Amino acid sequence: MTLFDSLRSPVDFLQSRLCVIQHFDLLATEQEWWKTEGGAISSAIDRAGTPWIRMFDRWGKRVDEILYPREYQTMLCKAYRSGVVWRALEENSLIPTYLLMYTISFYDPGICCPYTVSLGTAVPLTKYGSTESQARFLPQLLRKDDSVWQGATWMTEIGGGSDLGAAVNTIAKPAAEGWLLTGDKYFASNAGAELPVVAARPESAPAGVRGLALFLVPRYRGNEAGTLNYSIRRLKDKVATRSVPTGEIELRDSEAYFLGSADAGIYLILEVLNLSRVANSVVSVALAQRAMADALAYAERRTAFGKPVLEHPLLRRQVEVRLKLLRSTFALAWEAVRLLDQVWMERPPYSERYHLFRLVAHLAKYWTAEFAVDTAKWAMEVHGGLGTLAEYGVERWLREAMILAIWEGTPHRQILDGLEVMERKQAHKMLFAQLAEIAPNEALLEVQSEIERVLHLSPDKKEAEAEALFRRLAALSADQLAQRYTQ
Ligand SMILES: Cc1cc2nc3c(=O)[nH]c(=O)nc-3n(C[C@H](O)[C@H](O)[C@H](O)COP(=O)(O)OP(=O)(O)OC[C@H]3O[C@@H](n4cnc5c(N)ncnc54)[C@H](O)[C@@H]3O)c2cc1C
Repeated sequence: MTLFDSLRSPVDFLQSRLCVIQHFDLLATEQEWWKTEGGAISSAIDRAGTPWIRMFDRWGKRVDEILYPREYQTMLCKAYRSGVVWRALEENSLIPTYLLMYTISFYDPGICCPYTVSLGTAVPLTKYGSTESQARFLPQLLRKDDSVWQGATWMTEIGGGSDLGAAVNTIAKPAAEGWLLTGDKYFASNAGAELPVVAARPESAPAGVRGLALFLVPRYRGNEAGTLNYSIRRLKDKVATRSVPTGEIELRDSEAYFLGSADAGIYLILEVLNLSRVANSVVSVALAQRAMADALAYAERRTAFGKPVLEHPLLRRQVEVRLKLLRSTFALAWEAVRLLDQVWMERPPYSERYHLFRLVAHLAKYWTAEFAVDTAKWAMEVHGGLGTLAEYGVERWLREAMILAIWEGTPHRQILDGLEVMERKQAHKMLFAQLAEIAPNEALLEVQSEIERVLHLSPDKKEAEAEALFRRLAALSADQLAQRYTQ
């Protein structure tokens, strides 16, 4: 095996990093299916573009049916059957979910969006749903066949996704049974899902994030068979994740079920977002691995100046350095998975470990997505002019990576929220204690004192200096954590 061989397969790479891989055979089977069947379906769908919507049936009834190629359903249902959602709750661990997501994203990073948002529905329902809601909905989300229900997580409105406290204008009114929601969601992935969770403001709740709450909104109304409970205004034509229908949603007195308690809504919303941020981190690393694998395969065969370009010292060094970065970026993402797996069933008020998790999740979401974009760009460059052509596929990784950096909170959001958890919960102190256990060193002390200096600046100066600090902390944490996985 050469130094680069583990790059060529997601399962080999996971095996090279983790001592124990749960469900190894399952992952190997999943990988084989994607290699022989799924990959071709995925690239055909990427080329064909966004699915269509049929808004009315032939008799004029509003149906908002999303028209996918038949193969898409096969591709989508594969991982639901394998347990990307049901295993988390049946095995009481998120590790199998994120291992599956890593394996699948090597072939299609976008398809993990439906899985992530379905998990983001099943988990809060399990933790915070009423007994009636759980009995009515949970079995459908955990089905092991193609009739499984999908979830979705709809927060963002036209006013923006970063400042949810100001931008969520969807109003929830109490009704005889449950609640009625009215408002518009502007970026709603997995449009058409059977059971989204939706952020809204109960009509008597205060302004700002503290007044937000989380609701389940079934696709169809309870007492009127086949009558839509929300409408899809249109589907968006996106640069990537093209197989995922992302739409604009209209809620008009839509029947809804409350999750959690009146004062805890924003915590529930953040818990859902954190599941997605960790998924995003895992997917970003897998995407970077895929882009590197493609670049490597090309550089081994393309010749220039009398030999394969991979044999030129400049390019070879680039691959070696990037492989080291891939390993450290993976270590950071996997630390977020490991910590989340310990705290995902916690409810507010959270433990110190939960706050440590939050900091690591912000670092991982930020750093892995930056690495994915940078690596996808580099992989295109290695292909030279051919890298820019849609027919060879490598340009897709850059399009997909750009979305990974933006959704689930842009880099700015990760940096500022990371700063907040350091300032308010002193989460960096727990992080440094853990990193020092791996291997104490001077750089740790330097960055820790830099954090203390920045945290004591005025608010404006603190924000202005936050990016350089966050980058340094992310890179350092990734390098330290990678030492755990050295083989
Ligand atoms: C393909 C796709 C699918 C999506 N699916 C969903 C979904 O299913 N559900 C959902 O709820 N949302 C979804 N989103 C929305 C996504 O979460 C938002 O795009 C994201 O949160 C950013 O919000 P925004 O686009 O409104 O940008 P804005 O919030 O308007 O921000 C614009 C810019 O200002 C920056 N900015 C904001 N505040 C600050 C600050 N304090 N300091 C510095 N810079 C700042 C932002 O980082 C960004 O660069 C999706 C987005 C995409 C692209």
